[in-house]
Amino acid sequence: MEFALTEDQEMIRDAARDFADRVLRPNAARWDAEESFPEDAMAEAAAAGFMGLTVPEDYGGAGLGNLHAAILLEEINVGCASVGVTLSVHMSLMCSMLNKHGSTELKQKYLPALADGSCIGAYCLTEPQAGSDAAAVRTSAVKVDGGYVLNGTKAWITTGAQAGLFVVYAVTDAEAKKGSGMTAFLVEKDFPGLKVGKKEEKLGIRASSTTEILLEDVHVPNENVVGAVNGGFKIALDTLDGGRIGIASQAVGIHRACLEASVKYSKEREQFGKPINRFQAISFKLADMATELDAARLLVHRAAWLRDQGLPSTKACSMAKLYASQACNRAAQDAVQIHGGAGYTKEFPVERYYRDARITEIYEGATDVQRIVISRNLD
Ligand SMILES: Cc1cc2nc3c(=O)[nH]c(=O)nc-3n(C[C@H](O)[C@H](O)[C@H](O)COP(=O)(O)OP(=O)(O)OC[C@H]3O[C@@H](n4cnc5c(N)ncnc54)[C@H](O)[C@@H]3O)c2cc1C
Repeated sequence: MEFALTEDQEMIRDAARDFADRVLRPNAARWDAEESFPEDAMAEAAAAGFMGLTVPEDYGGAGLGNLHAAILLEEINVGCASVGVTLSVHMSLMCSMLNKHGSTELKQKYLPALADGSCIGAYCLTEPQAGSDAAAVRTSAVKVDGGYVLNGTKAWITTGAQAGLFVVYAVTDAEAKKGSGMTAFLVEKDFPGLKVGKKEEKLGIRASSTTEILLEDVHVPNENVVGAVNGGFKIALDTLDGGRIGIASQAVGIHRACLEASVKYSKEREQFGKPINRFQAISFKLADMATELDAARLLVHRAAWLRDQGLPSTKACSMAKLYASQACNRAAQDAVQIHGGAGYTKEFPVERYYRDARITEIYEGATDVQRIVISRNLD
């Protein structure tokens, strides 16, 4: 067993860390306050090759796997969790999904622009009545000459306002058993009838855009079906396994930011004549944060490695997401506490980390949904 990063993993880590230090950390608080999507930072991430990290070299990407992506995403999320989720959804829920399940024609058509970042990907599964119960989607896809006509409302779509390509999961067989009549379609933002709906005002990750996507008589050609007709729900779930590695990496990144800020502050802040990290109540919190951070990262790297090997990874992905997101929230809680009143203000970044941490337990399967997945996969 090998715990050290390889040379190219170290290169990815260093490039992402440099980007986070230079571009993300200095601006993340402003983007959060303004709720502004960081177009320039995303362009710089694209220029650095981050958007195409998991796209095969034949289609203009770096051809790397989930483990490299996890290492990259941890660094990005230390700097800004909004950029982190934008990248995670693009890489896992669009690029990896298309590469694994799409036809050669679809890959040739869309992967190069996704890899160079000129097109951002979005994932449209959730609907107002279909959250944890994702098989309850009602968006319909009716067969017509040459393709399908889609109608419905997708909710909570990350990067909805900026994405150029959407994978939309819609019902092609309403009579089929729940979930088994669903198909995945690639829908371009300029297809007539696709509209960006309400933008959500959020507690955290406020610089990422989250919107409704409205589909009103959107004609999608046959060739834009991904995988088999009525095979979409399997694709959605398989894709989410990979996505959960991305969100667990996000949790590890926010967690690390909490720990680093808390170590620094507790060394500088003095009470009762000494730095507060000399009080056992504080130093034990730091010890727990550091230990749980390492445990979370190891679970994430194991899940990513399993998926890269093509081995069963559903349980490991859910375990990584469950543990990393909960550990991240404990760390964020303690980070604010260690900062005292200062942690409750925007003078210090921990109040943003505290708000950003919450989402890691909700999207791509809420905490109890991960428990359901894990328990169903116990031998
Ligand atoms: C910021 C943000 C970005 C998102 N981005 C996307 C996106 O890009 N694409 C997309 O398709 N979706 C996206 N989502 C949707 C997200 O995946 C859902 O919010 C999530 O799956 C939970 O669904 P829900 O909000 O409807 O909660 P509900 O399903 O209503 O759950 C509410 C609570 O009930 C619990 N619960 C539900 N069912 C069970 C059960 N069987 N057993 C135990 N507890 C249960 C949940 O754990 C949760 O605590 C996003 C959401 C947010 C908030």
